[in-house]
Amino acid sequence: KPRVLSLAQHGVRRDALSHAALRVVSRLQESGHSAFVVGGAVRDLLLGVSPKDFDVATSATPEEVHHIFRRSRIIGRRFRIVHVMMGPETIEVTTFRGGEAGKTNETGRIMADNTYGNQSEDALRRDFTVNALFYNPTDETIIDYHHGVKDLQAKKLVMIGQPARRYQEDPVRMLRAVRLAAKLGFEIDEHTRKPIASHAHLLKNEPPARLFDELLKLLHSGHAYACLKKLRDEGLSRGIFPLLDAVMDEEGGEAFLKLALASTDERIRADKPVSVGFMLAALLWAQVNNRWKARTADGEKSIAALMEAMAEVESLQDEDFAIPRRFSATMREIWALQPRFDNRNGARPFRFLEQPRFRAAFDFYCLRAEVGDVPREMVQWWAEFQHADHADRQLLVEEAR
Ligand code: ATP
Ligand code: MG
Repeated sequence: KPRVLSLAQHGVRRDALSHAALRVVSRLQESGHSAFVVGGAVRDLLLGVSPKDFDVATSATPEEVHHIFRRSRIIGRRFRIVHVMMGPETIEVTTFRGGEAGKTNETGRIMADNTYGNQSEDALRRDFTVNALFYNPTDETIIDYHHGVKDLQAKKLVMIGQPARRYQEDPVRMLRAVRLAAKLGFEIDEHTRKPIASHAHLLKNEPPARLFDELLKLLHSGHAYACLKKLRDEGLSRGIFPLLDAVMDEEGGEAFLKLALASTDERIRADKPVSVGFMLAALLWAQVNNRWKARTADGEKSIAALMEAMAEVESLQDEDFAIPRRFSATMREIWALQPRFDNRNGARPFRFLEQPRFRAAFDFYCLRAEVGDVPREMVQWWAEFQHADHADRQLLVEEAR
């Protein structure tokens, strides 16, 4: 007894889908299976936002899907899904889940979830009502089992089923609630929000790699600062990012982070690339900076003090949270290059410009100037130095002596 909305009622035309999403659904249907676009894409289309990817749900098993599409592969163990590659796009195809929530451990956590079901069972297993809408491009209908359209219009994030139990099954749903609410500008419904504080500790048992994945999604949401603030307000920051509370409370920490993420959020919304290493450098900077300052105040040499401060902060992180090397290397470089802006003698500034990370380090230095951490005249000097020709650069170095 789901509600079925016609094109006239919801207004989402099939040509709003990507070519690949449309092809995948029609091929599955032509092969005798039912198939729909589901999840975030349907939600975003209803909100008038263009989806960044398309997920498809089908009655076909992963093997059947793989058989239909030559360029596809079955991935995942806990949740088996099929990636169908079509042109430049990859469509994630999942088989309808069903029955009870699969195998759980002693805390109610789902350990395996590969029992298949029908469409209505699949809807019941999704997280929020606005994420459980099915779109059938063939007749341009939306199938709504859980009043998702009504909640979407009211801008409310409502968990399907009993929220506390759904968080036990999968604690990452708490992070998803916060991220989606911040990204969509929705309220988290009171019943959905309330159990979060008392279940936050469950995130501690999640694999760090999955938490880091969630952090990446959050940093790429275009609303990273709003997400991080909301995480802290809901008492979730300790689980995913042990030092986040400290970052926000640290002297100057929040102001710096707000400034840094405002610029990356803006870039993301304008579809420009951002550097995760840069974002992480900003996220943890207050921790590093305050330790660096304390050490230099105690008479340590600037560069040695910074290296010590970095090592300290990184060892604090490593306990519950591992930043993959490909990001931590950039983060460390951006920090480590900061003292080089202090040294404008002889050939040093010329060599610094040749450094591949100079640009990122300079962007970071500008942020530091904006919060009053370094003199604005220095930023001015380095800006001029970058854009001057060789002779003028020599003059600038002379003047700086
Ligand atoms: P985004 O805009 O970030 O892509 P999304 O809702 O599409 O948001 P995905 O991670 O792509 O998020 O997941 C696709 C769909 O799968 C969701 O809309 C939801 O229906 C379902 N889903 C994802 N993660 C969970 C989960 N942890 N528990 C239940 N359902 C989930
Ligand atoms: Mg999605």
